[in-house]
Amino acid sequence: MGFLTRLNALKNQAGATVGGAKAIAIGMGITLRHYVEQQLKLKPSGTVQYPEERREQYPRTRWRHYLTRYDDGLEKCIGCSLCAGACPARCIYVEAADNTDEARYSPGERYAARYEINMLRCVFCGYCQDACPTGAIVLRKDFELADYDRLDFLYTKEMLLEPAPLAPTVPASSIRPVERELEAAKG
Ligand code: SF4
Ligand code: SF4
Repeated sequence: MGFLTRLNALKNQAGATVGGAKAIAIGMGITLRHYVEQQLKLKPSGTVQYPEERREQYPRTRWRHYLTRYDDGLEKCIGCSLCAGACPARCIYVEAADNTDEARYSPGERYAARYEINMLRCVFCGYCQDACPTGAIVLRKDFELADYDRLDFLYTKEMLLEPAPLAPTVPASSIRPVERELEAAKG
Protein backbone atom coordinates (compact mmCIF):
# COMPACT_ATOMS: atom_id res chain seq x y z
CA MET A 1 0.00 0.00 0.00
CA GLY A 2 1.40 3.37 -1.03
CA PHE A 3 1.97 6.29 1.28
CA LEU A 4 -0.86 8.35 -0.25
CA THR A 5 -3.37 5.51 0.08
CA ARG A 6 -2.47 5.11 3.76
CA LEU A 7 -2.81 8.84 4.29
CA ASN A 8 -6.28 8.83 2.70
CA ALA A 9 -7.36 5.87 4.83
CA LEU A 10 -6.17 7.65 7.98
CA LYS A 11 -7.99 10.81 6.91
CA ASN A 12 -11.24 8.86 6.36
CA GLN A 13 -10.88 7.15 9.74
CA ALA A 14 -10.27 10.46 11.52
CA GLY A 15 -13.27 12.00 9.73
CA ALA A 16 -15.53 9.12 10.79
CA THR A 17 -14.31 9.37 14.41
CA VAL A 18 -14.91 13.13 14.53
CA GLY A 19 -18.35 12.70 12.92
CA GLY A 20 -19.30 9.99 15.44
CA ALA A 21 -18.10 12.08 18.38
CA LYS A 22 -20.07 15.08 17.08
CA ALA A 23 -23.28 13.00 16.78
CA ILE A 24 -22.83 11.68 20.34
CA ALA A 25 -22.20 15.21 21.65
CA ILE A 26 -25.36 16.51 19.93
CA GLY A 27 -27.41 13.62 21.37
CA MET A 28 -26.01 14.13 24.88
CA GLY A 29 -26.69 17.87 24.57
CA ILE A 30 -30.36 17.20 23.77
CA THR A 31 -30.62 14.77 26.70
CA LEU A 32 -28.98 17.29 29.03
CA ARG A 33 -31.28 20.09 27.83
CA HIS A 34 -34.41 17.97 28.49
CA TYR A 35 -33.04 16.89 31.88
CA VAL A 36 -32.43 20.48 32.96
CA GLU A 37 -35.85 21.57 31.63
CA GLN A 38 -37.54 18.80 33.63
CA GLN A 39 -35.52 19.44 36.79
CA LEU A 40 -36.22 23.16 36.71
CA LYS A 41 -39.80 22.50 35.55
CA LEU A 42 -39.37 24.88 32.63
CA LYS A 43 -41.76 22.81 30.47
CA PRO A 44 -44.76 20.66 31.48
CA SER A 45 -43.88 16.94 31.52
CA GLY A 46 -45.62 14.74 28.98
CA THR A 47 -45.24 11.75 31.27
CA VAL A 48 -48.32 10.61 33.18
CA GLN A 49 -47.54 8.92 36.50
CA TYR A 50 -49.93 6.01 35.95
CA PRO A 51 -51.65 4.51 37.96
CA GLU A 52 -51.60 7.44 40.41
CA GLU A 53 -52.44 9.83 37.57
CA ARG A 54 -54.89 9.18 34.75
CA ARG A 55 -54.95 10.86 31.39
CA GLU A 56 -58.28 12.27 30.24
CA GLN A 57 -59.73 9.89 27.66
CA TYR A 58 -61.24 10.97 24.38
CA PRO A 59 -65.06 11.25 24.47
CA ARG A 60 -65.57 8.39 22.00
CA THR A 61 -63.19 6.01 23.74
CA ARG A 62 -64.54 2.44 23.69
CA TRP A 63 -63.39 -0.21 26.14
CA ARG A 64 -65.27 -2.51 28.48
CA HIS A 65 -68.80 -3.57 27.58
CA TYR A 66 -71.83 -3.23 29.84
CA LEU A 67 -75.38 -4.50 29.52
CA THR A 68 -77.58 -1.65 30.66
CA ARG A 69 -81.00 -1.42 32.31
CA TYR A 70 -83.98 0.91 32.18
CA ASP A 71 -84.64 3.17 35.16
CA ASP A 72 -87.17 0.68 36.53
CA GLY A 73 -84.47 -2.03 36.61
CA LEU A 74 -85.66 -4.05 33.62
CA GLU A 75 -82.88 -5.17 31.29
CA LYS A 76 -82.68 -3.38 27.95
CA CYS A 77 -81.43 -6.51 26.19
CA ILE A 78 -84.17 -8.42 24.38
CA GLY A 79 -81.95 -11.28 23.23
CA CYS A 80 -82.28 -10.45 19.53
CA SER A 81 -78.63 -11.36 18.71
CA LEU A 82 -78.19 -8.43 16.31
CA CYS A 83 -75.00 -7.53 18.20
CA ALA A 84 -73.66 -11.06 17.68
CA GLY A 85 -74.48 -10.84 13.97
CA ALA A 86 -72.69 -7.50 13.62
CA CYS A 87 -69.59 -8.57 15.51
CA PRO A 88 -66.67 -9.03 13.08
CA ALA A 89 -64.74 -11.11 15.60
CA ARG A 90 -67.69 -13.45 16.29
CA CYS A 91 -67.05 -13.13 20.00
CA ILE A 92 -70.62 -12.57 21.26
CA TYR A 93 -72.88 -15.46 22.21
CA VAL A 94 -76.56 -14.84 23.02
CA GLU A 95 -79.17 -17.33 24.11
CA ALA A 96 -82.68 -15.85 24.32
CA ALA A 97 -85.61 -17.03 26.43
CA ASP A 98 -89.25 -15.93 26.83
CA ASN A 99 -90.32 -13.55 29.55
CA THR A 100 -93.29 -14.70 31.58
CA ASP A 101 -95.64 -12.82 33.90
CA GLU A 102 -93.98 -14.56 36.83
CA ALA A 103 -90.41 -13.88 35.67
CA ARG A 104 -90.00 -10.76 33.60
CA TYR A 105 -86.47 -9.54 32.87
CA SER A 106 -87.05 -7.15 29.95
CA PRO A 107 -90.04 -5.19 28.62
CA GLY A 108 -90.16 -7.25 25.40
CA GLU A 109 -91.27 -10.81 24.75
CA ARG A 110 -87.76 -12.18 25.16
CA TYR A 111 -84.64 -11.52 27.16
CA ALA A 112 -81.06 -12.78 27.06
CA ALA A 113 -80.91 -15.82 29.30
CA ARG A 114 -77.24 -16.15 28.44
CA TYR A 115 -74.97 -13.43 27.11
CA GLU A 116 -71.22 -13.87 26.77
CA ILE A 117 -68.37 -11.93 25.20
CA ASN A 118 -64.95 -13.44 24.63
CA MET A 119 -62.85 -10.39 25.41
CA LEU A 120 -59.70 -12.01 24.04
CA ARG A 121 -61.19 -11.87 20.56
CA CYS A 122 -62.92 -8.50 20.85
CA VAL A 123 -61.35 -5.70 18.80
CA PHE A 124 -63.39 -2.94 20.53
CA CYS A 125 -64.84 -1.74 17.24
CA GLY A 126 -68.21 -0.87 18.80
CA TYR A 127 -70.25 -2.50 16.02
CA CYS A 128 -72.26 -4.40 18.64
CA GLN A 129 -73.24 -1.10 20.28
CA ASP A 130 -74.22 0.41 16.93
CA ALA A 131 -76.30 -2.64 15.97
CA CYS A 132 -78.25 -2.90 19.22
CA PRO A 133 -81.86 -1.68 18.72
CA THR A 134 -82.45 -0.96 22.41
CA GLY A 135 -79.12 0.56 23.45
CA ALA A 136 -78.54 -2.40 25.75
CA ILE A 137 -74.89 -3.10 25.04
CA VAL A 138 -72.53 -0.15 25.49
CA LEU A 139 -68.77 0.20 25.55
CA ARG A 140 -67.50 2.47 28.31
CA LYS A 141 -64.11 3.81 29.30
CA ASP A 142 -62.89 1.13 31.73
CA PHE A 143 -59.65 0.06 30.10
CA GLU A 144 -57.89 -1.92 32.84
CA LEU A 145 -58.92 -5.33 31.55
CA ALA A 146 -55.73 -7.34 32.10
CA ASP A 147 -56.08 -10.70 33.81
CA TYR A 148 -54.09 -13.86 34.43
CA ASP A 149 -56.35 -16.67 33.29
CA ARG A 150 -57.79 -17.07 29.79
CA LEU A 151 -61.15 -18.15 31.21
CA ASP A 152 -61.43 -14.86 33.09
CA PHE A 153 -61.71 -13.11 29.75
CA LEU A 154 -64.99 -14.86 29.01
CA TYR A 155 -67.35 -12.16 30.29
CA THR A 156 -70.70 -13.60 31.31
CA LYS A 157 -74.04 -11.82 31.54
CA GLU A 158 -73.58 -11.53 35.30
CA MET A 159 -70.29 -9.72 34.76
CA LEU A 160 -71.67 -7.48 32.02
CA LEU A 161 -75.05 -6.54 33.47
CA GLU A 162 -75.28 -3.28 35.39
CA PRO A 163 -76.45 -3.67 38.97
CA ALA A 164 -80.18 -3.18 39.50
CA PRO A 165 -81.16 0.21 40.95
CA LEU A 166 -81.27 0.11 44.72
CA ALA A 167 -84.75 -0.21 46.23
CA PRO A 168 -85.43 2.20 49.12
CA THR A 169 -84.40 0.31 52.25
CA VAL A 170 -86.43 2.46 54.69
CA PRO A 171 -90.12 2.87 53.80
CA ALA A 172 -91.43 6.43 54.27
CA SER A 173 -94.09 5.18 56.71
CA SER A 174 -91.40 4.04 59.14
CA ILE A 175 -89.89 7.53 59.52
CA ARG A 176 -90.99 9.05 62.83
CA PRO A 177 -92.98 12.34 62.73
CA VAL A 178 -90.10 14.56 63.93
CA GLU A 179 -87.85 13.10 61.28
CA ARG A 180 -90.55 13.62 58.67
CA GLU A 181 -90.78 17.28 59.66
CA LEU A 182 -87.03 17.65 59.35
CA GLU A 183 -87.15 15.96 55.94
CA ALA A 184 -89.98 18.32 54.88
CA ALA A 185 -88.06 21.37 56.16
CA LYS A 186 -85.09 20.32 54.05
CA GLY A 187 -87.46 20.58 51.10
S1 SF4 B 1 -66.66 -4.28 20.12
FE1 SF4 B 1 -66.60 -5.21 18.04
S2 SF4 B 1 -65.38 -7.05 18.28
FE2 SF4 B 1 -65.96 -6.40 20.35
S3 SF4 B 1 -67.83 -7.52 20.83
FE3 SF4 B 1 -68.46 -5.58 19.94
S4 SF4 B 1 -68.69 -5.96 17.73
FE4 SF4 B 1 -67.49 -7.66 18.59
S1 SF4 C 1 -77.43 -6.44 23.35
FE1 SF4 C 1 -78.86 -5.47 21.92
S2 SF4 C 1 -78.43 -6.39 19.93
FE2 SF4 C 1 -77.48 -7.71 21.49
S3 SF4 C 1 -79.01 -9.28 21.93
FE3 SF4 C 1 -79.31 -7.63 23.41
S4 SF4 C 1 -80.85 -6.28 22.49
FE4 SF4 C 1 -80.08 -7.59 20.83
